Amino acid sequence: MKKVTNHKHKKKILTAGPSISHLEVQFVTDAVKHAWHDRGYEWVKRFEHEFAQYTGSGFTLATAGGACALELALAAIGIGPGDEVILPDMTYFGCSDVVRLVGATPVFVDILRDTWCIDPDKIIPAITKRTKAIMPVDLYGHASEMEQIQEIAKKYHLFVIEDACQGVGTLYKGRHVGAYADLAAYSFQGSKILTTSVGGMLATNSKKLYEKARMLNKHGEDPQKPFWQLEVGYEYKMSDLQAAFGLAQLKRIETFVEKKQQLYEWYRPYLQDIPGLLMNVEKPDVRSNHWMSSIVLDNDLGITRDQLRKALLERNIDTRPFFYPISMFPLYKEAHTPIAHHTGLNGINLPSGLQLTKDEVVFVAKAVRDILLHTV
Ligand SMILES: *Cc1c(COP(=O)(O)O)cnc(C)c1O
Repeated sequence: MKKVTNHKHKKKILTAGPSISHLEVQFVTDAVKHAWHDRGYEWVKRFEHEFAQYTGSGFTLATAGGACALELALAAIGIGPGDEVILPDMTYFGCSDVVRLVGATPVFVDILRDTWCIDPDKIIPAITKRTKAIMPVDLYGHASEMEQIQEIAKKYHLFVIEDACQGVGTLYKGRHVGAYADLAAYSFQGSKILTTSVGGMLATNSKKLYEKARMLNKHGEDPQKPFWQLEVGYEYKMSDLQAAFGLAQLKRIETFVEKKQQLYEWYRPYLQDIPGLLMNVEKPDVRSNHWMSSIVLDNDLGITRDQLRKALLERNIDTRPFFYPISMFPLYKEAHTPIAHHTGLNGINLPSGLQLTKDEVVFVAKAVRDILLHTV
């Protein structure tokens, strides 16, 4: 065995990180100064409008976060106690939380081995009389199999709520993710490709669902009669300061997608030929935003995921473990989802921040290769 080189990067290489330009500063400064009284919500409306134009959505509602948008989507449909929602087992637990928060039950199914998104073939056996919706998640920026999911939903009269939180800029069959769902949620949390520091967006092509969600997000206020309440609702709004930030980011989103694709292309030559190592893929019908360049230790490589992460940290390289299958948590009954279990416990998100340089990416890629193969 050759010796493993072990030099440390001077500056810590972080997993995520935004790209901030003078435009964000300029827009936010303007909002701080002017977005008050009769100019209140101007930036929010502009951001909603331009985001709808970018994604091709009929209606958009800016929210306080991606999970808030998902919860409003469930509430707008009227999903509640006694209902079931099908979602992939390997995703962020915010997804299952919102199902629980409206009083419904999450049902976890397995994922695909290549895209790590929900396996459409596993959806049908999970459908019961109580199933109301399917919640596919565009994991790490790859699109879910929306055409197949849409067919299943039609056949069984289910709603599709797409968690596109990680997928801003991702295209599926030429259209932005979310376009094939009844409702879609996007997140602008700090690690996401487009950020407002904290924030999200709900999108739909249904005027009825949009109006219901908007009404619910004003604590159920009657749109015709201010201060008159019709229903118990929410207050998950986005502020003008966040919207101004988001609008500046939106003007630059295509450059972010290009940069993420570039990071992936910088990693690829060093990692793609390592036996037993899987990288994220990009299926022919998809333009992935490559939010996170990621790897899965698919075979026994003689090192565990956590040992690899530790060895990288010793070189000043930050990484993120994949999501644990949610059904592993004591809150739930463990589901039979072998691929989610295998992937969730052996996957790593590599540094994928927008500020990374080629030298930094190559340093990380070589370190991973070096550790896995014990050679440079
Ligand atoms: C980030 C994220 C969320 C939650 O978004 P917030 O804006 O943090 O509420 C939900 N689902 C997925 C898949 C996410 O990555």
